[in-house]
Amino acid sequence: MHSMTLVELRDGLQRGDFSSRDVVAGLLERIEARDGELNAFITVTAEQAMDVAGRADDARANGGAGALNGLPLVHKDIFCTRDVLTTCGSRMLEDFVSPYDAAVVERLASAGAIMLGKTNMDEFAMGSSNETSYYGPVRNPWDLSRSPGGSSGGSAAAVAARLTPAATGTDTGGSIRQPAALTNTVGIKPTYGRVSRYGMIAFASSLDQAGVITRTADDAALLLKVMSGFDERDSTSIDHPVPDYEALIGKPIKGLRIGMVRQHFDAGLDEGCATAVREALSELERQGAVLSEVDLPNLDYCVPTYYVVAPAECSSNLSRFDGVRFGHRADNVEDLLDLYCSSRGEGFGAEVKRRIMTGTYVLSAGYYDAYYLQAQKVRHLISDDFRRAFESVDLIAGPTAPEPAFGLGDKTDDPITMYLNDIYTIGANLAGLPALSAPCGMVDGLPVGLHLVGPHWSEETLLQAAHQYQLVTDWHKACPEAYK
Ligand code: GLN
Repeated sequence: MHSMTLVELRDGLQRGDFSSRDVVAGLLERIEARDGELNAFITVTAEQAMDVAGRADDARANGGAGALNGLPLVHKDIFCTRDVLTTCGSRMLEDFVSPYDAAVVERLASAGAIMLGKTNMDEFAMGSSNETSYYGPVRNPWDLSRSPGGSSGGSAAAVAARLTPAATGTDTGGSIRQPAALTNTVGIKPTYGRVSRYGMIAFASSLDQAGVITRTADDAALLLKVMSGFDERDSTSIDHPVPDYEALIGKPIKGLRIGMVRQHFDAGLDEGCATAVREALSELERQGAVLSEVDLPNLDYCVPTYYVVAPAECSSNLSRFDGVRFGHRADNVEDLLDLYCSSRGEGFGAEVKRRIMTGTYVLSAGYYDAYYLQAQKVRHLISDDFRRAFESVDLIAGPTAPEPAFGLGDKTDDPITMYLNDIYTIGANLAGLPALSAPCGMVDGLPVGLHLVGPHWSEETLLQAAHQYQLVTDWHKACPEAYK
């Protein structure tokens, strides 16, 4: 049962093949047995999950079941969950129990979904390898010596290892898509404003967006429909109709215009990944998609622009963690300044401190124009690149990450190399566009992801392309040998 998708579980539950209690008990047992080696979870909410499963079974029997009734999933530990620990992967929030649920958590729960636990992540979602977590790195189920990517690495590893069929994640620069690519899962980051950020701990507010990690596009469509929609508690939430994604993805892709990003296949891309992605695009072409080449001339500026904008916003967002209003409080301090310094010094890890310092610097009076303002201008140029590309194509495509999963420790000494892992994903965040990664091949036994980006509100086209691809390929079914 652990290898079933959400859609398969939903059908099985409806037929009465098994109960939600069976499903949840089986997965909890698997988490208990296997998470020791993966470290994908920070908290497992076993008791609560069994209670909710019991209620879901009753609701089904009484005919009052929601769209996700009795279906299990896990939440990235960046989403506030009432009465359950929410750490954001940081010592700063080591004992924070939220008094309320994030909008995403609330919506999924009201549709009947069952939370199995909270997943490990890079500290405050800053990282591409899960190695910045206060709770230690997550291991990639495809090779335990490698990283599952980050920052939603716990979510991705848990889905890949069949500890859960689905997980939530957040994506500020690639944190849903890059781990999805490195673990052979599907990850979608919706349009900025599509999903409420209420109760999602902020990293860089103009870039952060919640999404999901699943094994099929079908499952992603099912969850996205429930998660999406206007929320007045998030001032950047947009009131735009939510389509029935699940119904729309069945449409064939004949005539869909897909632009291959020329710059994405330049130097820097692993050859095996390039071949896998090209092969995936040929498959889409065989199904009737029309391929062409498009340019994103400012690609090289994505990473530098992001690493000005994101730290600037994070330095402001994280100022609330001062040991007084929020977060870890240091003991034995001399005065108020010492309380601030010691609490923040002890509560934050090295990468978070690096970002706060960079952010404070680029926002300072003397450097604001040279860095922050300049980055905002380049951000516009990058958005313009996408807008121009979408004049001639419906979607653009390329690799999600420049290489397959890298070894734990391989990039920790060199932040710049780590930052470059997000080169293909960051543009979509800077431009607020929806984007998806789907399994499309293997290089030496390690998964490769196909990256698709669409214009604003084109989630259904992204899911449709991925779903149609999954109907004729088996890459997404591949499971790490030890987790079958
Ligand atoms: N890896 C990028 C960073 O470290 C993106 C993180 C994210 O999307 N949350 O900032």
